[in-house]
Amino acid sequence: MVLPFYLMTPEYFMRLALAEATKGDAPYGAVIVKDNQAIAVAHNTVKRDKDPSAHAEINAIRQSTALLKTSVLEDCTIYTTVEPCPMCATACVWAGIAEIVYGASIADLIAINQSQINITCEEVIAKSFTNIKVVKGVLRDDCLKLFL
Ligand SMILES: [Zn+2]
Repeated sequence: MVLPFYLMTPEYFMRLALAEATKGDAPYGAVIVKDNQAIAVAHNTVKRDKDPSAHAEINAIRQSTALLKTSVLEDCTIYTTVEPCPMCATACVWAGIAEIVYGASIADLIAINQSQINITCEEVIAKSFTNIKVVKGVLRDDCLKLFL
């Protein structure tokens, strides 16, 4: 679906991710956007798939690369309800994603006793060979509410 430009806000795509998060085995949702269109919408399927790597972001990356028939997601933005964990941040690096937009941070989740690896996505990116723009705190309170 092609949206009018005024609807293509970070909040719009984050709301898509939020709606998707409610379907997950854990309340995380991710959307990948290319040319202002959502090309993948995914949630956490770790328990369903018996796959500890099946985080929302990894699932969204897999959907996108399958759709585009490439391993490279340059010019793509990933919207994710929670800051990507080190595994997912690394997958974003390897995929060549241009931008990460997240809601709640890893620190926010640790503060409410959620199991997290305490490394920010910016630390992972800083140690890599590339740069990814990071936008934080989009609809943060709504993203956090899913855990309460
Ligand atoms: Zn992850």
